[in-house]
Amino acid sequence: MPDLFVDGEWRAALGGRTREIRCPADGSLVGVVDEAGAEDTVAAIRAARRAFDTGPWPRTAARERGDLLLRVAELLLRDKAALARAESLDTGKRLVESEYDVEDVAACFRWFGRAAEAEAGRVVDTGRADVDSRVVYEPVGVCALITPWNYPLLQTAWKVAPALAAGNTFVLKPSELTPHTAVHLLRLLTEAGLPPGVANLVLGAGPEAGAPLADHPDVDLLSFTGGLHTGRRLMAAAAATVKKVALELGGKNPNIVFADADFDTAVDMALTAVFLHSGQVCSAGARLLVEDRLHDRFVDEVVRRARRIRLGGPFDERARTGPLISAGHRAGVEAYVARGLAEGAVLRCGGARPSGPGLDEGFYYLPTVLDECTSTMSVVREESFGPVLTVERFTTEDEAVRLADDTVYGLAGAVWTSDEARAARVAARLRLGTVWINDYHPYVPQAEWGGFKQSGFGRELGPTGLAEYREPKHIWRNTAPAPQGWFA
Ligand code: NAD
Repeated sequence: MPDLFVDGEWRAALGGRTREIRCPADGSLVGVVDEAGAEDTVAAIRAARRAFDTGPWPRTAARERGDLLLRVAELLLRDKAALARAESLDTGKRLVESEYDVEDVAACFRWFGRAAEAEAGRVVDTGRADVDSRVVYEPVGVCALITPWNYPLLQTAWKVAPALAAGNTFVLKPSELTPHTAVHLLRLLTEAGLPPGVANLVLGAGPEAGAPLADHPDVDLLSFTGGLHTGRRLMAAAAATVKKVALELGGKNPNIVFADADFDTAVDMALTAVFLHSGQVCSAGARLLVEDRLHDRFVDEVVRRARRIRLGGPFDERARTGPLISAGHRAGVEAYVARGLAEGAVLRCGGARPSGPGLDEGFYYLPTVLDECTSTMSVVREESFGPVLTVERFTTEDEAVRLADDTVYGLAGAVWTSDEARAARVAARLRLGTVWINDYHPYVPQAEWGGFKQSGFGRELGPTGLAEYREPKHIWRNTAPAPQGWFA
């Protein structure tokens, strides 16, 4: 069965091209999928445009749209095992993590399913008896949704669910490396009853299959999650047609540990913060800022435990984390660590590929700790998106906040302390979209997710996430029209 979904039909690429998808854990062939070119994407945009301009979906009652999303949530859970397996094969991540992800994806559809009808519009009090005035919310139009490879289905859900809840049509382009769960999701949308042309899927590389999504005049909104440099390029391309743009970009997220923190929990979560999914998490706590008087004891323990982390493929139940997504990405992480060492960082563990049965064919890289880093080093300033922790020291609260914010990014971060007043002060000062206090990584669909500074703008999740996909329209009705006589 072909893999591109355009105007309610599964199609092969017009250019006849295909791409092999290989599992990063062992290089095995996962599947061969159709590879779209620009002409396929333009066809998908036209279908989405037609469905928006003349189809039923934008005019369907918000409650019905919400009901469809709730059905999709059920179908996702029905297919959880198959979806999790497909996600793990494409990404190399542990099966148990993919299973959590599918549950999060279903929760996202459920939340937007309920939110769809929650705020239908509002009456405006003009103070005039002869006027009815109200604000209604309309869908933005055709949405281009471009997603990365680290949480393929989850990142897709964070865009598809609010876009549909608000009554839009869309063209989705997932990462070329991890297409399979997007294909499955599109089948579920059809099974749930979504009309043809509303949801369109193109698979393929960014510069070919993705580029028309940023500059085609029929696209009204571009929602992109991915790297900073791609985001900058797409924002510039979208300027020519003044698209609405939502960007979820990278992070260089500080994890701040004061000496009065609960030691065991802070160590444990410092490891989770950075080594979960081998650091391929936009909110990874890749920058440990630790109070000087705690530094030696804390870092020694982090290093001792990092050395013990077992790497393995998706179905290795004893593995705690998996491979990097590709050979190219691993080469980038290796170059990043080499730069850090050249700049004077001290390698405490890792810094190499592991070897051994089951590891040699995959793109594995050992959990790595670079100590004695300073904020001028490139390893502290740039995202590695790999299992690499940099360590900086601070002595005062002011210095902790200053170092934490000394970055172009502003996505997420944490503060660890048993002093509640200090936790509140630091959380209030940090220029981050999400601040965790004595925790790391949790999120809920009810609360906004997004970045300050160059981590992007626009919000996913939460009420503002839905607002991204709606246009408020003010309707003013004069109930007693009469000449006013200005120019009589
Ligand atoms: P990427 O920027 O390389 O690619 C992201 C997507 O953009 C892919 O689908 C890719 O094919 C597409 N793309 C690339 N060039 C394009 C072009 N010229 N035109 C149109 N589309 C194009 O990012 P990645 O390597 O897939 O993902 C990793 C990055 O994503 C990291 O920087 C990470 O921090 C970020 N990320 C951010 C969040 C967040 O919520 N802020 C979440 C996950 C990942």
